[in-house]
Amino acid sequence: MATGIDGFHQKHVSFSMVEVGDLPAHCPPKEAQKWNMHPKVFLQFDGKGRASCPYCGTKYELA
Ligand SMILES: [Zn+2]
Repeated sequence: MATGIDGFHQKHVSFSMVEVGDLPAHCPPKEAQKWNMHPKVFLQFDGKGRASCPYCGTKYELA
């Protein structure tokens, strides 16, 4: 997977992909737009490789 966290900018995609090599992942991603910023929080992935941000609700999935 070479898409990285590009899905963050796609409003209709329910999960933003995170590559294992990018761990530990945090939200907002470094590419986040200013209006969407909140205190940086590290994501904790569950057994299915999914995590959601407690601040903005963005869902992430391990690639
Ligand atoms: Zn967030």
